[in-house]
Amino acid sequence: MTEIYESKVKILPDFIANQIAAGEVVQRPESVVKELVENSIDAGAGSIIVSVRNAGKSLIHVIDDGNGMTKQDLELSVKRHATSKVFTSEDLEEIKTFGFRGEALASVCSVANVEIRTRKIEMPHGWKLISEPMKEEILEEINCDKGTQIFVRNLFYNVPARRKFLKSNMTEFRYISDTMIKTALSKPELRFTFYDDDTLIFDILPSDKIERIADLLGRNIKESLIPVNYQNDFVSIDGFIGEPHLSKQSRGSQYFFLNGRPILSNSLSHAVYSSYEELLDKNQKPLFVLYLNLDYSKVDVNVHPQKHEVKFDDERFVYNSVKNAVLQALRNSSYIPEVKIDLDMAANPFSLIKDNNHDILVNRMTGEMVNFDNSRASHSSSDIQHDIVKKPIIHSAFDDIFNRIDNNPSNQAMLPDNFEESSYKYINRRFIIADIGEYIYIIDQSGLHQRLIYDNITANRNGNTRVVQELLFPMEIEIDNNQFNIIHSTKGDIESLGFSFELHKDRVIFKGIPQSLKSGTEEESVRKFLIEIAAIELNTVQDIYDRICTSYSESASIKNGSELNSTEIRSLMAGLKGYRIPLYSPKGKKSVIRVTNQEFYNKLFFN
Ligand code: ADP
Ligand code: MG
Repeated sequence: MTEIYESKVKILPDFIANQIAAGEVVQRPESVVKELVENSIDAGAGSIIVSVRNAGKSLIHVIDDGNGMTKQDLELSVKRHATSKVFTSEDLEEIKTFGFRGEALASVCSVANVEIRTRKIEMPHGWKLISEPMKEEILEEINCDKGTQIFVRNLFYNVPARRKFLKSNMTEFRYISDTMIKTALSKPELRFTFYDDDTLIFDILPSDKIERIADLLGRNIKESLIPVNYQNDFVSIDGFIGEPHLSKQSRGSQYFFLNGRPILSNSLSHAVYSSYEELLDKNQKPLFVLYLNLDYSKVDVNVHPQKHEVKFDDERFVYNSVKNAVLQALRNSSYIPEVKIDLDMAANPFSLIKDNNHDILVNRMTGEMVNFDNSRASHSSSDIQHDIVKKPIIHSAFDDIFNRIDNNPSNQAMLPDNFEESSYKYINRRFIIADIGEYIYIIDQSGLHQRLIYDNITANRNGNTRVVQELLFPMEIEIDNNQFNIIHSTKGDIESLGFSFELHKDRVIFKGIPQSLKSGTEEESVRKFLIEIAAIELNTVQDIYDRICTSYSESASIKNGSELNSTEIRSLMAGLKGYRIPLYSPKGKKSVIRVTNQEFYNKLFFN
């Protein structure tokens, strides 16, 4: 008996296949931006302009000055598996371009209205292609600049389920700007211009890595970037890491690039953290922008195209390379001493060496030599002594000491248990000097208080622990346009600190303020806070929440010069428990240091 089966296996129509692929490739407006910008880079563009409307939901417009496409290329480019980039399976082994799957444009075309205008430089005119889901493409001859322009309109309008899944404009925009930053960091040699509606977010000219990092992550951090340059037989690593004081509670600014591509790797991030181990508190995350280059045949880059999660053939090896690269950079900048220090030596690191009438002090820990000036070399040693006494080598201001105490690991131990009960001296309405055993601790009251407030609010960000203190009489403070914009777009963040308020164009009416504000100085603190946040730039990539918390901790903290009573001093000291010394304020100023008695003496009198 013969049965005739009707074939149940059907080849999917292209359109459906594209939509399925789109589910993978196009998750949100950011994915479109990423694919289009990568295509522009692959096309050899020197300048790429990205402009989005409504966080990319209404329009994503990318313009490049790259190679452009011929009419045939253009027609093919929106077809599934059309790619000019992979021809043989060997090519797949060595993927040097960003795109290679040949499905990005086809996928985007299945979930949005797309218009492409393109011209090859050698062609007298260009071509325009208009694509709408389920419709025939329209192709026309046009006049246009060399390069390619792509408009993607109304993303997911024909896939309501996907459209509904999109987050708020603020969130979707963050994804896009994140990708723009990563891409711009990965290609400092290209110009990137980025608009949100009509607002210019950035326009950065071709430059080198450090300038690009400063352009994007903040001019003010440039001085605090430590260069990384490392190479072994398989991997080369360069880029920059931040000095410890640039670290944040949040992950903030951490970027890895592998062969020019932004990647994520928890294991490599961990390698960086472990190099900083001695230098940071547990929750602090260092800033880094690291560029790894290694042999393509050792890397599988296609593991997770969307998430950029990368797997290495030899994970351990790459991990150790990154760790060594960062350790080496920290050592070169003397954050970590080359050799483990003998603690006795740390207590008295200086040796006096006599060399033909010169007296030279050698710091045996750092190798630093303090030579008493060549012009005095012929003087007798008593003259030298005399000179030293006459010329104060160290100004005795304590500010100065804060900057002179090194980051050597002997200063980075935890506090003794009974720290807050120890005896102390309080001087200048600013410094608490506690003397325990062989150590002297010096605390800057404002710096420490800022750190405590900052850590408290950032730790409670998602907990519901904010305590609002209702005001009997609302407090009204005038604001300017800039302040209005900042408060308007960070309302939730400000409220999470414990403020409740009404926002008007020209003033804020506070109905409640954080309970932690010291009574008597509330208004002054709130005013200061509004001034501080006025300096926040919304259109940057800086972590705005972090900036708000830093501003708040600064304005809410005890000021130097305001006198503390003994209870307040004890509670500040108690707050120090669990922290490593030296401790930095949220703005990166040293605020608590610890020295041995001997070191204290050496630093003051011999440095
Ligand atoms: P892939 O990038 O994986 O090849 P895409 O769907 O992203 O696939 O692009 C398909 C093809 O269209 C590319 O291989 C390229 O030839 C062409 N193309 C896309 N964008 C551009 C552009 N901005 N400039 C020049 N050619 C482009
Ligand atoms: Mg592509």
